[in-house]
Amino acid sequence: MLKMPIIITVAHAICVDSVERDCDRRAAQAAQVLYRILQAKKCEVYLRVAGNYRDHIDANRTGARSTLWRRQLRTLIREQLKLGPVFVLDVHSFPAEADMVGHLKAYMIEMWFRSKLGGKEKVYQGWSANDKAWAQLALKESLGEGGTKIMLGDRTNDIMITSNIIGASTAILELNEAKTILSDEELETLMIHLTDELLMKYC
Ligand SMILES: [Zn+2]
Repeated sequence: MLKMPIIITVAHAICVDSVERDCDRRAAQAAQVLYRILQAKKCEVYLRVAGNYRDHIDANRTGARSTLWRRQLRTLIREQLKLGPVFVLDVHSFPAEADMVGHLKAYMIEMWFRSKLGGKEKVYQGWSANDKAWAQLALKESLGEGGTKIMLGDRTNDIMITSNIIGASTAILELNEAKTILSDEELETLMIHLTDELLMKYC
């Protein structure tokens, strides 16, 4: 059984005001829930929440690579990689008004692995069919048909990119911010399912 630490990241956690949306309003809450569940299961888990405002600098874009938070995150990943494989789960949330996805309760962006063939190869591979099936099951069992989706990464997520370059596996979890669409209870159920059906395979 493949064992690895799980590093949960929240890049867009800090909200400045409640008028204009300038952060992921539910990402920090969701990450805390998942962190608590994984800890209770005795998984090795780290939670890293960026402390800057998104409108100041977006911690999840190329321009933020040299920030302290990003440098410390890479250090943590590198240290853990010396011991074995590492999984980074990047948590975000989206508003119910979002085009295309606003109707969804949650979606996941595919896991990417860095192939370590020959030590220097940089070949990216999509989620293994097995993991994808597990993730789909976890989403559907907790949130039902139609309310969830698995998508391909668009490679603008810089935490995902740099984590992959270093050698970690990654996935992104996106949650609806509207509690009328995704209730707190459903969020809790989702995190329990994700832990039981997918993440427990690794920790
Ligand atoms: Zn975000």
